[in-house]
Amino acid sequence: MEYLTPNFTKDMLKDYTILFPNMAPLQFQCIQKAMDSEGIHCEVLNNSGSEVAQLGLKYVHNDTCYPALLIIGQFIDALNSGKYDLHHTALLISQSGGGCRASNYIKLLRKALVKAGYGYIPVASINPTGLESSSSLPLTLTLVRKLIACAFYGDEIAALRNQIIPYEVHPGQTEAWCNQWIHEIGVWMHENKNYSIHAMKKNFVKIANDAKKIERKSEKKVKVGVVGEIFVKFSPLGNNGLQEFLEKEGCEVNMPGIMGYINYCCANFALDAKLYNMNQTFGFMAEKLLNVLDSVGQACAKAMKDAGFYGAGPFKQLMKKPEGILSLGVKMGEGWLLCAEMVELIEDGYSNIICAQPFGCLPNHIAGKGVTNKIREKYPEANITAVDYDPSSTKVNQENRIKLMLAVAREKLQTACV
Ligand code: SF4
Repeated sequence: MEYLTPNFTKDMLKDYTILFPNMAPLQFQCIQKAMDSEGIHCEVLNNSGSEVAQLGLKYVHNDTCYPALLIIGQFIDALNSGKYDLHHTALLISQSGGGCRASNYIKLLRKALVKAGYGYIPVASINPTGLESSSSLPLTLTLVRKLIACAFYGDEIAALRNQIIPYEVHPGQTEAWCNQWIHEIGVWMHENKNYSIHAMKKNFVKIANDAKKIERKSEKKVKVGVVGEIFVKFSPLGNNGLQEFLEKEGCEVNMPGIMGYINYCCANFALDAKLYNMNQTFGFMAEKLLNVLDSVGQACAKAMKDAGFYGAGPFKQLMKKPEGILSLGVKMGEGWLLCAEMVELIEDGYSNIICAQPFGCLPNHIAGKGVTNKIREKYPEANITAVDYDPSSTKVNQENRIKLMLAVAREKLQTACV
């Protein structure tokens, strides 16, 4: 049975509030600014708590992947809150366009809305492959360019923040610095400037040099890399505040940015053409786009390195990291990206790694947990822990598991310092 909700139309842009789930808090604040600047009134949801998962469990079948359950629970909780004019509210959900269930969350959301009595709420889709064309968010070239620029700026600010906050001399200074830059980026977007490649490259340097001014202590901290399924990796709702927990434990956290995932999606379209003889024109265009995005990412990494921070290597090099461990043909879910990011993190000094895995996510259990022994064989210093996130596992259990990993990490750090 098909559950239908109204299509999202261009006219709704005028007077509808569009709600979307908060995946990567810092990057999504920047993305919201891009939308606002183009007259799209949207709100990134921050409601959390056990009711969200409970509502997800009530309206989504319990063998569905955990991110779907949380995202849908969060939407329904927001609609129940009484904060919104429900006849002028729409929901926005992204579709990866790949073979994984993330392309189909939209159907589950519509079914849940009908069951919860919100069948009149339109759902808009944002995706790279033309899915749901009758209900997609109208994207202009300017909006797409602004969204990409804001994702890059957000990634840079998040990466710098993560490298400064554990060492800051004046508590609160780094968060204030982030807020000031997010505000500035909002001003740029409203003034229609600084989203061209040339301007971005200039601004990466400006932002990194400004970050350098924040006073830091020269202590040695445990460095932890976080990889995983994209929602539970970034979202505090999905991973029970993983980053906050690690920072309270005195760690420096490295979460490779959201542009890595966008590059991964692009690379997969090109790989489809090469490995599986699929649409060659699409593959060719994806390869070209990947080259452009990689050059922008490298300018960002260089700006950070020149200012004395860590910056990841080129994406094209990252694609070589799984060699001998996993084929690039493994591209369901986060597929080979998990392995590639783990190897890069280890090689770059973040050998303690958390691989965040949601319940119901078979592809990432295979490509994440499934490669850890092979990675450990190649990199004996690797200290990798896979953590499962699902509605029944408690935060205490997850944190205890991470504490065991941190105990090993601290011992290694002490030995290295002697
Ligand atoms: S990657 Fe995992 S969690 Fe995400 S849609 Fe696919 S199966 Fe579900």
